[in-house]
Amino acid sequence: MLNRNLQVPEWDQPELDFIAAAEQQILTYRQGEMSLQAWIDWLRQALWWYALNIVEVQFGGPSAMGTMLAQQWYASNVNYLNRWAAQLQAQPQPVNLSGVLWRVQLYASAGNALQQRAMVRSYGLPELPFYPAYLTRCRMRCKCKWDIRVVPGGYDCYWQLGPAEHCPTCLARYRAARPLQVRGGLIVNAQQYNDPSLYA
Ligand SMILES: [Zn+2]
Repeated sequence: MLNRNLQVPEWDQPELDFIAAAEQQILTYRQGEMSLQAWIDWLRQALWWYALNIVEVQFGGPSAMGTMLAQQWYASNVNYLNRWAAQLQAQPQPVNLSGVLWRVQLYASAGNALQQRAMVRSYGLPELPFYPAYLTRCRMRCKCKWDIRVVPGGYDCYWQLGPAEHCPTCLARYRAARPLQVRGGLIVNAQQYNDPSLYA
């Protein structure tokens, strides 16, 4: 039985908005109306608004839990961004735009991990042992999702593989969470999720 409350129809809107805004800014850069530094500064800021947008959609507005999850996600992703920005600035200018666009897509995909974590917490479930993109081989590209179903006494959580998913970590999670059961607010047989094959 699928509980309709657990469906989030607009979950991908923040991602679409983030990509559209970034493409707009890339155009401004390409036209020479913006420096590379200004574009990077913009992207750093946009990544934070993207994170906030994701958690606000999940929690139905601003929340302390949502902000905390957004901060954690942002802290790791902005690190990647800063390292990449340093490489970009060392390249001949103007930089290769297809590489920049690819990178924007990567950050957009990384939002899946935050969206999934915010979804789980907004439903009042305990912290689950793993989330898409966290400690998986496919990393930021992971498009897997938790499929969470309400059952008597708790929730059954299935790891739903993303399209064309072949990452061994995610396949192991798919086999392990058939389903992961939450009863009375606790994960049943939690120790079975310590298996090292579930983490890359
Ligand atoms: Zn995956």
